[in-house]
Amino acid sequence: MNTPRTVKGFYDIFHPQSALYTFMENTARRVFGAYGFEELRLPVLEFTELFRRGIGGDTDIVQKEMYTFADRKGRSLTLRPEATAGVVRAYLESGRHGRDAVCRLFVCGPMFRYERPQAGRTRQFHQLNCECLGAANAQADAEILLMLDAFLRELGLTGLRTELNTLGCRACRPGYMEKLSAFLRALNPETLCPDCRRRLESNPLRILDCKVPACREQTAQVPAVRDHVCAECAAHFETVLGILGREKVSVVLNPRLVRGLDYYMRTTFEIVSEAIGAQGSVAGGGRYDGLTTLLGGPAVPGIGFACGMERLALALDGQGKGRFAPRPDFYFAVLDRECADKALHAAQILRAAALSGTVDFRDGKLGAKLRRAAQADAEYCLIFGAAEFAEDKVIVKNMDDGAQVSLPLSTLGDWAEIRFENKKEASRKGRLPLFQAT
Ligand SMILES: [Zn+2]
Ligand SMILES: [Zn+2]
Repeated sequence: MNTPRTVKGFYDIFHPQSALYTFMENTARRVFGAYGFEELRLPVLEFTELFRRGIGGDTDIVQKEMYTFADRKGRSLTLRPEATAGVVRAYLESGRHGRDAVCRLFVCGPMFRYERPQAGRTRQFHQLNCECLGAANAQADAEILLMLDAFLRELGLTGLRTELNTLGCRACRPGYMEKLSAFLRALNPETLCPDCRRRLESNPLRILDCKVPACREQTAQVPAVRDHVCAECAAHFETVLGILGREKVSVVLNPRLVRGLDYYMRTTFEIVSEAIGAQGSVAGGGRYDGLTTLLGGPAVPGIGFACGMERLALALDGQGKGRFAPRPDFYFAVLDRECADKALHAAQILRAAALSGTVDFRDGKLGAKLRRAAQADAEYCLIFGAAEFAEDKVIVKNMDDGAQVSLPLSTLGDWAEIRFENKKEASRKGRLPLFQAT
């Protein structure tokens, strides 16, 4: 009989890869928390209607990529393909729009999209999402970009590019769209890809971010939104750029950075990593004023971003996975099953002194046990055989230099405390942080 397997596009994430995800999440909690963002734990399942209204019924996501099914009572439910719609739903449903002037929320967890799996793209993927609701000013845009920059730098990512654009507002975008349409009408539609030919009618703005070289060539001279925005939008964008410049975040203006939905306005951005090639975007977001009204609430301005954890993991991959998982302090090698119980007790003493490690209960040969201790990357292998059992001693072997001593079990607690103090001392010198990546 076959053993059960995962669904295509879904993956198990084992250690040490899982340690990398924990590291990303913990770094996010620390950095986002420093900016006043509070964690919101959202359900992964929502009524399909939420996404139809919040993402848009004619988008690829809603038309082709959602995991949608009827529950036992025939109600249409969907596994969330993104977080923003759910955050806004929760914000309105909890009445926070009536209480908090500015509400900063942070969501972390899996999203689901039925897409063709490829490197960095899985059907269950993980995102870090931040949404700031209730602030319309340019400072809110700049702050969220500063926070995102701080987060990515804390992760240790380098080779990043912050791309920025403005999409104008309800007042000035129609004027731009006319100029864009006039420009596109002058092109020979046959020179555009089939998707863009369709977009000529349905969503001309999206033609700007088409990746097909022929389309990019045709639109090389396209008028840029930022040259055609109203005075308020221009001042808003200048303020954002001014703050980022003052805080030393370098940005690249990208006039092709657009969003397909009407409620996106003004600042839009993307963080691109040179480490992961063509699909190089690790985070993207922008201002959306009007999403709350689409979901039946009052008009509340908002800005937010989503950060793809699989993409971040790819970008971090080259930097040595080992640094995300703290090394175990000990690996207890039991050579004789008579000793297992005493080893278990000794390990409890070590853990009481804040050391971490495992006990290998199965009896076996010393060579094999030492190999396992090395595989576990433990700093010390504690060896406990019949001879040690008889004398109430344990052999402590340093796995890095091979040095070993025989200690009376009664002094193991003292040894653990000295070891812990040494670790703390090393951590203070900035060489070996205890609870985060080194
Ligand atoms: Zn405007
Ligand atoms: Zn195209």
